[in-house]
Amino acid sequence: MLTLAGILDDHPPTDPDGFLAFARSLRFPDIYQAVRVAEPLDDPVGFRFPASVRHRYERLPRFPDGFLVTGDAVCSFNPIYGQGMTVAALEALTLRRHLERGIEPRPRRWFRDLARVVDVPWDMSAGGDLAFPGVQGRRTPRSGWPTPTWPGCMPPPRATPASPPRSSASPGWWRHPSRC
Ligand SMILES: Cc1cc2nc3c(=O)[nH]c(=O)nc-3n(C[C@H](O)[C@H](O)[C@H](O)COP(=O)(O)OP(=O)(O)OC[C@H]3O[C@@H](n4cnc5c(N)ncnc54)[C@H](O)[C@@H]3O)c2cc1C
Repeated sequence: MLTLAGILDDHPPTDPDGFLAFARSLRFPDIYQAVRVAEPLDDPVGFRFPASVRHRYERLPRFPDGFLVTGDAVCSFNPIYGQGMTVAALEALTLRRHLERGIEPRPRRWFRDLARVVDVPWDMSAGGDLAFPGVQGRRTPRSGWPTPTWPGCMPPPRATPASPPRSSASPGWWRHPSRC
């Protein structure tokens, strides 16, 4: 299976020729070389991810007893970073720790512990996306930190913000390399 990703209206086409042309336009020819003579089993299928979303339940002053929230319902990451399942698994381990106390998990403590699980992957994922000027979202000193560490073709921040809507975002090495 081959996944191609773009950001901010730079999306891979879903017609077979356009998809192949997008693969061909990548900075490194390996992927195109691998698929250009291969026989597709199916047509490309598009998927758009509008925005990463984090709900700050830990900041609520009150929360009903008997309910907990976890997984994507707390924080939904841009799938291109491949973090959602790992974070959900770490949250499951957190839930086990809470249940081992033998009492009903307390929402305040639960959401506080969950925030600690989510903090780092959120900074990496949302922070990486925010390095693109066209991505909407609040910039903080922390949100820019991944930029210098991404390898390859991360484009430098542009002086003039682009204007597209919030969009599926991907790290620079997946971005259309002709513009990296
Ligand atoms: C295209 C794509 C690619 C991804 N790739 C990766 C990846 O490579 N690596 C990675 O770690 N993560 C990846 N993710 C993210 C990952 O899939 C999610 O973070 C993870 O599945 C979240 O788990 P969850 O249990 O919170 O939610 P889900 O897995 O969405 O589970 C929620 C379940 O609740 C059910 N449900 C919803 N409403 C109701 C209702 N009213 N009543 C009963 N049941 C209901 C749904 O049917 C679903 O089965 C990807 C996500 C997408 C969209």
